[in-house]
Amino acid sequence: MNLKVGIIGYQPGWEIILNQEGITFDRIMSKNPIKPENYAVLIVPSSINSDEEHIISNYLEGGGSVIFEAKSYAAIFKKKYKTKNVSYLVASDKSHYTGIGLVDINSEMSYVHDKSLVFIDTNLHIVFKNVGKGMLIVFPFDINSLILNYESIRKKFYFMRKELPSEIVTSVSKGKIRRLVTLTLSYMFNSRKLPFVHLWYYPDKVKNVFLFRVDTDFCNAKDAKSLWEICRRYHVNGSWFVDTVSDEMLSKVYKLMEKDQEIGLHCFRHIIFNNYRKDYENINLGLSKLKENNIDTSGFVSPYGDWNPQLGKIFEELNFKYSSEFCLDYDNFPFYPNFDNRFSKVLQIPVHPISPGRLRRSHFSESEMIQYYLYVIEQKKLLMEPIILYHHPSHQKFNVIEKLFMKIEEQNIWKTNFTGFADWWEKRNKIKLQQKLVGDKIISEKTEDNFFIRIVIDNNYAIVKFKKEISLRGLDWEKVERIRIPADIKNTRKKSWRDVLYDRENKQGKSKQ
Ligand SMILES: [Zn+2]
Repeated sequence: MNLKVGIIGYQPGWEIILNQEGITFDRIMSKNPIKPENYAVLIVPSSINSDEEHIISNYLEGGGSVIFEAKSYAAIFKKKYKTKNVSYLVASDKSHYTGIGLVDINSEMSYVHDKSLVFIDTNLHIVFKNVGKGMLIVFPFDINSLILNYESIRKKFYFMRKELPSEIVTSVSKGKIRRLVTLTLSYMFNSRKLPFVHLWYYPDKVKNVFLFRVDTDFCNAKDAKSLWEICRRYHVNGSWFVDTVSDEMLSKVYKLMEKDQEIGLHCFRHIIFNNYRKDYENINLGLSKLKENNIDTSGFVSPYGDWNPQLGKIFEELNFKYSSEFCLDYDNFPFYPNFDNRFSKVLQIPVHPISPGRLRRSHFSESEMIQYYLYVIEQKKLLMEPIILYHHPSHQKFNVIEKLFMKIEEQNIWKTNFTGFADWWEKRNKIKLQQKLVGDKIISEKTEDNFFIRIVIDNNYAIVKFKKEISLRGLDWEKVERIRIPADIKNTRKKSWRDVLYDRENKQGKSKQ
């Protein structure tokens, strides 16, 4: 029995999620029959043709598991559906998906009319049904277009207090959608009595990575040096994305950092024009400034976290290895963006988008700032998602940063910089698990040194070395952590007069550059 997933057709949004998780999949383009033992789960996107309908029905009746989107389910089973625009959903408090909490959709959802479908989660409108020997789940959203969406809006982020910090970020919670898909896949694998297997996110058995990003935004030498000093004291190899207007800052401050800190590019003029020629020239000017000062760089982070396909193309043409823009994604694993119907060569590394500057704007005291980041770190640890925080030296708050570094130092977390993580992710992304379940053993055709896999069975998981033969007996099982969602989570989506004010400030900031 193959432990992999099949996707009908070319669905780059789905592929981004499966690559982030390290789940092996095939793009199914042929019209040949599919046997239930060939794929643990089949993903059937919104639109399919009548040949495919036939193949999918046979796979399902024979014992396969299928994830449908409402429109493809309605087409195959001749049901009606209605569509509706939805801004966000909150998972039910007693379902398989409870820990996901609030998911921003800001898109259209489709609901199928079929009384034979049973709710797995009433709030998320995820339903299931047994058909023949198989089982199906229907999602009310189009995963592909949600993941490929690059619109952005202001969102507030949760903390135990009334006034909440906010930032303009991607309108869809892509990280939450990924978690929702992963939970569904592991549930479906396990329902077929199969272990759910994916490539582990990090080298060794470490459960997390810490990266620290600095956007210099025309800070002075004193502030830059103070922050640098703290990075050195706590062995944090920060990734500094520098403004390049001042030759003196480049040659007398950033150039000297190169030995223990990474230098990337933030801007020449701190602006995104949304004009191909102007943006190319501005970014290229920044790059030539770095070159004049003999500073090597492989990464870029866009002013205001802006991202669009035009910028994506410029990043490729200027040979960046990676970029990081929260208007494309935040709080998630890295991925290669897809635009013009192809995958970019430039890795996107999402950060947690709330910087101390945003907390200061929302009137957080220093001790509240520390508490906020300790809370973020705790959440990330539970989810085993990268802890990637960022700061502007001119905002100082060095005491806050020092407390965070102390917290990170206490734990068994992989500390690297953006390039280190990008290199790791690039290697990981090339590995395809080709695994079969034979009896109670997972058998792989080939293996890779230094990589681990995670095996999930119900509420337990084990992280094990990627070997040719892994027996499911006698593994070191650990419990899957439950995430608690605060009762007042919906407060983050209540509109406040401050949102209008911050949007205006953002616009004014952009026009001043
Ligand atoms: Zn900036």
